[in-house]
Amino acid sequence: MKDVGIILGIRPDVIRASKILNLLSNTSDISFDFIWSGQHYSENMKDVFFEQLNVPKPDVEFEIEKGNDAQIVSSVIKNTYNHLEKNKYKAVVFLGDTNTVMGSIAVAQHNIPIVHIEGCMRSYDWRMPEEKYRTTIDHLSDRIYAYLDSYKQQGLNEGISDKVIKVTGNPIVDIINENNNLFQNAENYLSEEIVKIISNESFLLATVHRRENILDRNSLNQIVNLINQTETQVIFPMGYTTQSKIEEYNLKLNSNVHVCDPIGYLEFMHLLDRSNYVFSDSGTVVEEACILGTPSIQLRFSTERPEVYDVKSSVKFDPSIEHNEYQSFLNKAQSLMDTKWKQPFGDGNASSKIVEDLIHLSQNDAFKKHKPGDYPFDISNSFKE
Ligand code: UDP
Repeated sequence: MKDVGIILGIRPDVIRASKILNLLSNTSDISFDFIWSGQHYSENMKDVFFEQLNVPKPDVEFEIEKGNDAQIVSSVIKNTYNHLEKNKYKAVVFLGDTNTVMGSIAVAQHNIPIVHIEGCMRSYDWRMPEEKYRTTIDHLSDRIYAYLDSYKQQGLNEGISDKVIKVTGNPIVDIINENNNLFQNAENYLSEEIVKIISNESFLLATVHRRENILDRNSLNQIVNLINQTETQVIFPMGYTTQSKIEEYNLKLNSNVHVCDPIGYLEFMHLLDRSNYVFSDSGTVVEEACILGTPSIQLRFSTERPEVYDVKSSVKFDPSIEHNEYQSFLNKAQSLMDTKWKQPFGDGNASSKIVEDLIHLSQNDAFKKHKPGDYPFDISNSFKE
């Protein structure tokens, strides 16, 4: 029986965990099964990242029901539960805040310890399912890897035990450090059309996918108005749901905004590095932009990554309110191009810290079914005999 199971399910999971998976594959100190939840399944939202980042293919792939969030979550829970009936791991590891992490409910039902990478991040925007999911899994976890001290403090404020949370730095720094050369040379992955656009002129990049932005016509309209304000060429790799919502709401982007399907990681990072700035509501893209030295306009009411504002790499644009002018946001982002900041996300050793700790916990029998007296919160004033 393998020591741990690792369940991932969406594009940024593969990217962020790529070094963790490679380190785990290259050690005999711990054994693991890599399980793909099936949340993302198309070639350009999944397979391309395994290939480009040399990530081992999953040992197990769930066949989950497609459809709305409830169908996906319930199917992930059911598949996880059934898988654990036959596979008695010491612990099961999740990353992030998506429908996939709700599989942790099934792990809890089996009384198996849960590990959460990317724990204790909070946007304090309770509209977001991601905020509810990350709060839930953090409060079920026996080990949380928090990227920064400030995130750990957020967990402590909610009563999670100090013993549960370990600060590691953000593994996205590791991925960028290790793959920077590949990003520089990734122009040959780009379509001819994009190469033509970027070879003659400066350009901007855009990504938009969050539910609170795309399922609300007014918010998406605010974003389209903002992007339409620029005369610079914009490359906009657009997720499929966003594409269909733009069509459904009959919103029009100007002809200097070039929409394409989502692209691979190396070419995306090539564009992000070379662009003047990026419009994005993605958590990972604003981190990556900050690390690469590219300014961003963050298309969100609130963020779980306030550090990008602290170091002044990002400008906030709140799509949930009606704006009567847009140019000042573009001007601010453009002016950040002439400034430098120190990226606040860590030293590039997060993946190895996480793997070392997993090995340590696994070898020292720290992952155990919960027994009487175990509790991940301070209950000294609550427990009655
Ligand atoms: N990304 C990519 N191709 C694209 C758009 C984004 O490879 O066309 C990468 C991007 O560099 C980042 C991740 O996908 O690493 C972000 O994914 P997403 O915005 O879907 O998720 P979030 O970070 O908001 O969870």
